[in-house]
Amino acid sequence: MKQIIVAIDGWSSCGKSTLAKQMAKVLGYIYVDSGAMYRAITLYFLRNHIDWTEEKEVIDALKDIELDFRPNDQNGTIEMYLNDENVEYLIRDLIVAEKVSEVAAVKAVRAFAVAQQQKLGKKKGIVMDGRDIGTVVFPRAELKLFMTADNAVRVERRFKELVEKNPNITIEEVAENIQMRDYIDSNREVSPLRQAKDAIVIDNTNLTQEEQLKKALKLVKNISG
Ligand code: C5P
Repeated sequence: MKQIIVAIDGWSSCGKSTLAKQMAKVLGYIYVDSGAMYRAITLYFLRNHIDWTEEKEVIDALKDIELDFRPNDQNGTIEMYLNDENVEYLIRDLIVAEKVSEVAAVKAVRAFAVAQQQKLGKKKGIVMDGRDIGTVVFPRAELKLFMTADNAVRVERRFKELVEKNPNITIEEVAENIQMRDYIDSNREVSPLRQAKDAIVIDNTNLTQEEQLKKALKLVKNISG
């Protein structure tokens, strides 16, 4: 079986990472959550009071950031490390989610993250999810998926996830955050969220995780043999 690159893009909270992780597991591929990189950079900027509207400040700050994905041997997942600190839990917080799209719209930030993402894909055998993977990071990926789902379903899914950690969170806050991120992500100047011309759309509003995985694996099989 030929090793390929699977690029998964789409709106916030459409289940991209759930599908990507499951595909990588079955295929024995590397899974890369590109959003985690933007989230970790955002966490660093917030902690260090970096003004991301100031280009020089951003460029200097990026020199002090080292991002790394490391496996968690206990649960078999891959976790995000920022300068040797495990930030997997912290980057999922709404405080980060509220600013991440602004940070991810900064040109220097994107150049920094994209270069690392492309390096990770050199050997193929990778599933990466994000917003610009099929359009900018791997425009020649063998399989491109674009995921979507009804807005209410997406809000509900993300709310369930976040309320476990933070019982004070409201569904309105979550809905607002998803809407704001989608707006900024699809309207920014650099690498806006777009469906690649050759992407296959998966609308998972009415699909179970098993159904969507089956669909995606079939598409891989058609390509890689
Ligand atoms: O995928 P996730 O929702 O964790 O991504 C967080 C944010 O990071 C997105 O809302 C978007 O602003 C940014 N992002 C991006 N390009 C990617 C992945 C994520 O701009 N490839």
